[in-house]
Amino acid sequence: MSGFILLVSGPSGAGKSTLLKKLFEEFETELYFSISSTTRLPREDEKNGVHYYFVSHDEFQEDIKNDYFLEWAKVHENFYGTSLKYTEEALNNGKIVVLDIDVQGYKIAKKKLQDKIVSVFITTKDKEELKKRLIKRNTDTITQLEKRLENASDEMKELCEYDYLIINDKLDQSYEALRAILIAHKFKTKGQDLDRIQNTWNKGE
Ligand code: ADP
Ligand code: 5GP
Repeated sequence: MSGFILLVSGPSGAGKSTLLKKLFEEFETELYFSISSTTRLPREDEKNGVHYYFVSHDEFQEDIKNDYFLEWAKVHENFYGTSLKYTEEALNNGKIVVLDIDVQGYKIAKKKLQDKIVSVFITTKDKEELKKRLIKRNTDTITQLEKRLENASDEMKELCEYDYLIINDKLDQSYEALRAILIAHKFKTKGQDLDRIQNTWNKGE
Protein backbone atom coordinates (compact mmCIF):
# COMPACT_ATOMS: atom_id res chain seq x y z
CA MET A 1 0.00 0.00 0.00
CA SER A 2 1.79 3.13 -1.13
CA GLY A 3 -0.70 5.93 -0.46
CA PHE A 4 -1.70 7.39 2.88
CA ILE A 5 -4.85 8.47 4.65
CA LEU A 6 -5.64 12.10 5.42
CA LEU A 7 -8.22 11.78 8.14
CA VAL A 8 -10.23 14.75 9.40
CA SER A 9 -12.57 14.91 12.36
CA GLY A 10 -14.20 17.68 14.33
CA PRO A 11 -17.57 19.01 15.37
CA SER A 12 -20.28 19.02 12.75
CA GLY A 13 -20.44 22.57 11.36
CA ALA A 14 -16.77 23.40 11.97
CA GLY A 15 -16.05 23.61 8.23
CA LYS A 16 -14.55 20.21 7.36
CA SER A 17 -16.48 19.77 4.09
CA THR A 18 -15.78 23.37 3.06
CA LEU A 19 -12.03 22.90 3.54
CA LEU A 20 -11.99 19.48 1.89
CA LYS A 21 -13.84 20.83 -1.13
CA LYS A 22 -11.04 23.36 -1.64
CA LEU A 23 -8.44 20.64 -1.21
CA PHE A 24 -10.12 18.53 -3.91
CA GLU A 25 -10.22 21.50 -6.26
CA GLU A 26 -6.45 21.87 -5.95
CA PHE A 27 -5.28 18.25 -5.65
CA GLU A 28 -8.05 16.42 -7.51
CA THR A 29 -5.91 13.80 -9.28
CA GLU A 30 -4.00 12.75 -6.17
CA LEU A 31 -6.91 12.44 -3.78
CA TYR A 32 -9.58 9.82 -3.28
CA PHE A 33 -12.62 10.78 -1.22
CA SER A 34 -13.95 7.83 0.73
CA ILE A 35 -17.72 7.99 0.40
CA SER A 36 -19.18 6.73 3.65
CA SER A 37 -22.38 4.78 4.07
CA THR A 38 -24.94 6.33 6.37
CA THR A 39 -28.42 5.68 7.65
CA ARG A 40 -29.00 9.46 7.93
CA LEU A 41 -31.48 10.96 5.47
CA PRO A 42 -29.98 13.05 2.63
CA ARG A 43 -29.98 16.83 2.96
CA GLU A 44 -31.51 18.87 0.15
CA ASP A 45 -28.27 19.29 -1.81
CA GLU A 46 -26.84 15.82 -1.13
CA LYS A 47 -26.67 13.06 -3.73
CA ASN A 48 -26.44 9.33 -3.21
CA GLY A 49 -23.01 8.07 -4.26
CA VAL A 50 -21.51 11.56 -4.14
CA HIS A 51 -21.75 12.79 -0.56
CA TYR A 52 -22.73 9.48 1.02
CA TYR A 53 -24.23 6.11 0.19
CA PHE A 54 -27.62 6.54 1.84
CA VAL A 55 -28.69 3.11 3.07
CA SER A 56 -31.41 1.65 5.27
CA HIS A 57 -30.76 0.50 8.81
CA ASP A 58 -31.10 -3.15 7.68
CA GLU A 59 -28.63 -2.69 4.83
CA PHE A 60 -26.14 -1.12 7.22
CA GLN A 61 -26.47 -4.02 9.69
CA GLU A 62 -25.97 -6.47 6.83
CA ASP A 63 -22.78 -4.63 5.80
CA ILE A 64 -21.48 -4.85 9.37
CA LYS A 65 -22.08 -8.61 9.32
CA ASN A 66 -20.26 -8.95 5.99
CA ASP A 67 -17.18 -7.07 7.28
CA TYR A 68 -17.69 -4.36 4.69
CA PHE A 69 -16.39 -1.61 6.98
CA LEU A 70 -12.91 -0.48 7.93
CA GLU A 71 -14.73 1.27 10.78
CA TRP A 72 -18.28 2.26 11.65
CA ALA A 73 -19.91 4.24 14.44
CA LYS A 74 -23.19 5.62 15.69
CA VAL A 75 -23.05 9.43 15.52
CA HIS A 76 -25.97 11.71 16.47
CA GLU A 77 -28.40 8.75 16.38
CA ASN A 78 -27.35 7.59 12.89
CA PHE A 79 -24.87 5.01 11.68
CA TYR A 80 -21.87 5.93 9.52
CA GLY A 81 -19.17 3.67 8.10
CA THR A 82 -16.12 3.58 5.80
CA SER A 83 -15.65 0.91 3.13
CA LEU A 84 -12.58 -1.26 3.76
CA LYS A 85 -12.30 -2.47 0.17
CA TYR A 86 -12.38 0.95 -1.51
CA THR A 87 -9.94 2.39 1.03
CA GLU A 88 -7.45 -0.42 0.43
CA GLU A 89 -7.83 -0.22 -3.33
CA ALA A 90 -7.17 3.52 -3.34
CA LEU A 91 -4.14 3.10 -1.06
CA ASN A 92 -2.76 0.41 -3.36
CA ASN A 93 -3.17 2.80 -6.26
CA GLY A 94 -0.99 5.31 -4.42
CA LYS A 95 -3.83 7.70 -3.66
CA ILE A 96 -4.20 9.99 -0.68
CA VAL A 97 -7.43 8.71 0.84
CA VAL A 98 -9.48 11.42 2.51
CA LEU A 99 -11.66 10.30 5.41
CA ASP A 100 -14.08 12.69 7.12
CA ILE A 101 -15.07 10.62 10.12
CA ASP A 102 -15.90 11.07 13.79
CA VAL A 103 -13.66 10.53 16.80
CA GLN A 104 -14.92 6.99 17.51
CA GLY A 105 -14.25 5.94 13.93
CA TYR A 106 -10.79 7.48 14.06
CA LYS A 107 -9.85 5.39 17.08
CA ILE A 108 -10.88 2.19 15.29
CA ALA A 109 -9.14 3.12 12.02
CA LYS A 110 -5.98 4.05 13.94
CA LYS A 111 -5.77 0.60 15.50
CA LYS A 112 -5.90 -1.01 12.06
CA LEU A 113 -3.88 1.40 9.91
CA GLN A 114 -1.91 3.57 12.30
CA ASP A 115 1.21 4.14 10.21
CA LYS A 116 -0.89 5.08 7.17
CA ILE A 117 -2.89 7.84 8.87
CA VAL A 118 -2.22 11.53 9.27
CA SER A 119 -4.99 12.96 11.41
CA VAL A 120 -6.32 16.50 11.61
CA PHE A 121 -8.88 17.85 14.06
CA ILE A 122 -10.82 20.83 12.73
CA THR A 123 -12.90 23.01 15.02
CA THR A 124 -14.19 26.55 15.58
CA LYS A 125 -12.75 29.11 18.02
CA ASP A 126 -15.66 28.48 20.41
CA LYS A 127 -19.02 26.79 20.82
CA GLU A 128 -20.95 29.96 20.02
CA GLU A 129 -19.34 30.19 16.58
CA LEU A 130 -20.17 26.54 15.93
CA LYS A 131 -23.81 27.21 16.80
CA LYS A 132 -23.88 30.21 14.43
CA ARG A 133 -22.51 28.10 11.57
CA LEU A 134 -24.97 25.30 12.16
CA ILE A 135 -27.84 27.79 12.20
CA LYS A 136 -26.52 29.44 9.03
CA ARG A 137 -26.13 26.09 7.29
CA ASN A 138 -29.79 25.46 8.10
CA THR A 139 -29.77 21.68 7.58
CA ASP A 140 -30.83 20.55 11.06
CA THR A 141 -33.95 20.73 13.17
CA ILE A 142 -33.61 22.35 16.61
CA THR A 143 -33.35 18.90 18.22
CA GLN A 144 -30.69 17.77 15.76
CA LEU A 145 -28.79 21.01 16.24
CA GLU A 146 -28.79 20.59 20.02
CA LYS A 147 -27.61 17.00 19.64
CA ARG A 148 -24.75 18.11 17.38
CA LEU A 149 -23.67 20.82 19.86
CA GLU A 150 -23.78 18.37 22.76
CA ASN A 151 -21.73 15.88 20.76
CA ALA A 152 -19.25 18.62 19.84
CA SER A 153 -18.31 19.13 23.51
CA ASP A 154 -17.50 15.42 23.80
CA GLU A 155 -15.48 15.45 20.60
CA MET A 156 -13.43 18.43 21.84
CA LYS A 157 -12.18 16.23 24.70
CA GLU A 158 -10.34 14.05 22.16
CA LEU A 159 -8.17 16.78 20.57
CA CYS A 160 -4.95 15.33 21.95
CA GLU A 161 -5.42 12.09 19.97
CA TYR A 162 -4.79 13.92 16.66
CA ASP A 163 -1.54 14.81 14.86
CA TYR A 164 -2.73 18.31 13.91
CA LEU A 165 -5.28 20.84 15.10
CA ILE A 166 -6.80 23.58 12.94
CA ILE A 167 -9.01 26.23 14.50
CA ASN A 168 -11.02 27.22 11.47
CA ASP A 169 -11.48 30.92 12.04
CA LYS A 170 -10.30 32.62 8.81
CA LEU A 171 -11.06 30.16 6.02
CA ASP A 172 -8.04 31.09 3.89
CA GLN A 173 -5.59 30.60 6.74
CA SER A 174 -7.17 27.27 7.70
CA TYR A 175 -6.92 26.11 4.12
CA GLU A 176 -3.23 27.06 4.00
CA ALA A 177 -2.66 24.97 7.11
CA LEU A 178 -4.50 21.96 5.70
CA ARG A 179 -2.67 22.04 2.37
CA ALA A 180 0.67 22.43 4.18
CA ILE A 181 -0.07 19.28 6.17
CA LEU A 182 -0.95 17.41 2.99
CA ILE A 183 2.15 18.58 1.13
CA ALA A 184 4.51 17.81 4.02
CA HIS A 185 3.20 14.25 4.18
CA LYS A 186 3.55 13.73 0.46
CA PHE A 187 7.28 14.33 0.84
CA LYS A 188 7.92 11.97 3.76
CA THR A 189 10.58 9.41 2.83
CA LYS A 190 8.56 6.62 4.46
CA GLY A 191 5.75 6.83 1.92
CA GLN A 192 7.93 7.01 -1.19
CA ASP A 193 9.29 4.23 -3.40
CA LEU A 194 12.93 4.66 -2.36
CA ASP A 195 14.25 1.64 -4.34
CA ARG A 196 12.83 2.98 -7.55
CA ILE A 197 14.11 6.48 -6.84
CA GLN A 198 17.64 5.18 -6.07
CA ASN A 199 17.70 2.97 -9.17
CA THR A 200 16.59 5.81 -11.40
CA TRP A 201 19.15 8.09 -9.79
CA ASN A 202 22.00 5.64 -10.41
CA LYS A 203 20.98 5.07 -14.03
CA GLY A 204 21.44 8.76 -14.60
CA GLU A 205 25.16 8.51 -13.69
P1 ADP B 1 -18.75 20.37 8.50
O1 ADP B 1 -18.42 19.67 7.21
O2 ADP B 1 -17.61 20.39 9.46
O3 ADP B 1 -20.01 19.85 9.12
P2 ADP B 1 -19.36 22.68 6.77
O4 ADP B 1 -18.18 22.66 5.86
O5 ADP B 1 -20.66 22.18 6.25
O6 ADP B 1 -19.01 21.92 8.15
O7 ADP B 1 -19.51 24.19 7.29
C1 ADP B 1 -20.60 24.60 8.11
C2 ADP B 1 -20.97 26.04 7.73
O8 ADP B 1 -19.92 26.94 8.14
C3 ADP B 1 -21.17 26.25 6.24
O9 ADP B 1 -22.28 27.12 6.05
C4 ADP B 1 -19.87 26.91 5.79
O10 ADP B 1 -20.06 27.75 4.67
C5 ADP B 1 -19.47 27.72 7.03
N1 ADP B 1 -18.01 27.91 7.21
C6 ADP B 1 -17.02 27.01 6.99
N2 ADP B 1 -15.81 27.54 7.31
C7 ADP B 1 -16.05 28.81 7.73
C8 ADP B 1 -15.20 29.89 8.21
N3 ADP B 1 -13.87 29.75 8.33
N4 ADP B 1 -15.81 31.04 8.57
C9 ADP B 1 -17.16 31.18 8.49
N5 ADP B 1 -18.01 30.22 8.04
C10 ADP B 1 -17.47 29.05 7.68
P1 5GP C 1 -22.99 14.69 8.90
O1 5GP C 1 -24.28 14.05 9.30
O2 5GP C 1 -22.88 16.12 9.37
O3 5GP C 1 -22.67 14.50 7.45
O4 5GP C 1 -21.82 13.90 9.67
C1 5GP C 1 -21.90 13.75 11.06
C2 5GP C 1 -20.61 13.18 11.60
O5 5GP C 1 -20.39 11.86 11.08
C3 5GP C 1 -19.36 13.99 11.23
O6 5GP C 1 -18.60 14.14 12.42
C4 5GP C 1 -18.63 13.11 10.25
O7 5GP C 1 -17.21 13.29 10.35
C5 5GP C 1 -19.04 11.72 10.74
N1 5GP C 1 -18.90 10.69 9.71
C6 5GP C 1 -19.16 10.78 8.37
N2 5GP C 1 -18.85 9.63 7.76
C7 5GP C 1 -18.38 8.78 8.71
C8 5GP C 1 -17.88 7.43 8.69
O8 5GP C 1 -17.81 6.76 7.67
N3 5GP C 1 -17.52 6.91 9.88
C9 5GP C 1 -17.58 7.61 11.06
N4 5GP C 1 -17.17 7.00 12.17
N5 5GP C 1 -18.03 8.88 11.11
C10 5GP C 1 -18.42 9.45 9.96
